[in-house]
Amino acid sequence: MTVKVTLIPGDGIGPEVSAATQKVITASQAPLDWEVVEAGEACIEKYGTPLPEHVLETIRRNKVAIKGPITTPVGKGFRSVNVALRQQLQLYANVRHLRNLPNVPSKYQDVDIVVVRENTEDLYAGIEHKVGNYAAESIKVITRDASERIGRYAFELARREGRKRVTIVHKANIMKLSDGLFLESIRHVARDFPEIECEDRIIDALCMNLVQVPEQFDVLVLPNLYGDIVSDLVAGLVGGLGVAPGANIGEMGAVFEAVHGSAPQIAGKNIANPLAMILSGIEMLKYLGFIKEAQRVEKGINDVLSHREYVTPDLGGTSGTQEMAMAIVESMK
Ligand code: NAD
Repeated sequence: MTVKVTLIPGDGIGPEVSAATQKVITASQAPLDWEVVEAGEACIEKYGTPLPEHVLETIRRNKVAIKGPITTPVGKGFRSVNVALRQQLQLYANVRHLRNLPNVPSKYQDVDIVVVRENTEDLYAGIEHKVGNYAAESIKVITRDASERIGRYAFELARREGRKRVTIVHKANIMKLSDGLFLESIRHVARDFPEIECEDRIIDALCMNLVQVPEQFDVLVLPNLYGDIVSDLVAGLVGGLGVAPGANIGEMGAVFEAVHGSAPQIAGKNIANPLAMILSGIEMLKYLGFIKEAQRVEKGINDVLSHREYVTPDLGGTSGTQEMAMAIVESMK
């Protein structure tokens, strides 16, 4: 049976890396039917918003989408499309699988970490106010329901992927009530997963440990703001933006996207690295249950990276975006 997925090409390098991704994922032989819709800069003039209602509607209908990066116009009053998508579709888990890939320059080896970030509350709830002219307050919202939900997601992921340990990250020694509730709620969930080790780390200690011994970590589960920062830190450990995939998962669907932005400086030059979006496509295949197809793409990527002939300039090569994608397709045959 064919599965319909929404593809949003996005802005800047988005259309280039999206075209490359569509080619590679199609070559995996997964039975996908792509519904391509525009969001972002092109829509502002036409619809007066970068995220028109019909785009949300296709994602709600198809339940699965993959998107290129979208430029957030500065000072024009539009909310980030990414934040709007997360809120509108209740995508409560932001998940990044970050691991070393062959021949991708990095200071570290053997890193293989999944960062699971709570996506709906914490300081990101955006509840702020001024107190007179000389002070401002932001309210950190942590609830038991959302903490248990993200904790359960992290442990279920660990079980599904045969991972050994989940580390709960917090600052409960200082924020005893809010981070304390996050920690306590997830410890409670952990009881249902006795085969998976559950430990916790204070956020500052975790950051030091990550840059000293990243290979010790397996699955990390964090509240929204720490998750935002730590997921970029871990992306840096494995080679940076060109190879960092991401997913936003909710109860009603999922949106897959690379971590990087629209990189306007290199747009239209056919030099953007398509791997981060292709790796996000692999996550989408796995989410849909197309495991063999996902492995086919993984093999193609590993071959191309090992030979180094067709890699983009950011990885030290001279290949173009589309040529790298075609080389991956060839290696999958
Ligand atoms: P960026 O990720 O676009 O670029 C940062 C640096 O990384 C640049 O030097 C860029 O050339 C390089 N880079 C990024 N992706 C690359 C790739 N695939 N291959 C090779 N090099 C790559 O971040 P930015 O410059 O801060 O943001 C640009 C725009 O993207 C902004 O409007 C921002 O709001 C938006 N953005 C969107 C998303 C998203 O849609 N998910 C995420 C982040 C930023």
